[in-house]
Amino acid sequence: METRIGLGYDLHRLVEGRKLFIGGVEIPYIKGLGGHSDADCLIHAVCDALLGAISGADIGELFPDSDPRYRGVSSSELLKTVMDLVRKKGYKISNVDTIIIAEEPKMSPFKDEIRESLSKIMGIDKDRVGVKAKTNEGLGELGRKEGIASFATVLIQKER
Ligand code: MG
Repeated sequence: METRIGLGYDLHRLVEGRKLFIGGVEIPYIKGLGGHSDADCLIHAVCDALLGAISGADIGELFPDSDPRYRGVSSSELLKTVMDLVRKKGYKISNVDTIIIAEEPKMSPFKDEIRESLSKIMGIDKDRVGVKAKTNEGLGELGRKEGIASFATVLIQKER
């Protein structure tokens, strides 16, 4: 069995006039994340963790924001594309674990829905997906509610 690990991180700024998507779930809030796609920082972190695990291009190289095809695109579609790359290389997901860092809105009530959403997008069992929610204890840019950040780590495996 070959086992590989991957790590991903992403951060987007909170801006007016955008819907907030985290892990493919629309979260009710007065602001959303700004970016070229729907700016779902959790999905972007998961994509980068998967791409790192297969030593692939990073998400910015794979889906450049200079490419109009990715304007306003649902990050779920990007994650599905990345999962195709992982499966093409013969790997299965052992598990994925994530952290969302948001001062506001409170993410805890949505953790289960986000796990469900990620597992559906990735085509894996929900018990292989971890989602943890934290604040930044009021410190720094995240603490001032200027953005939301996410970390993700994945373990992938294939038979030799
Ligand atoms: Mg991003």
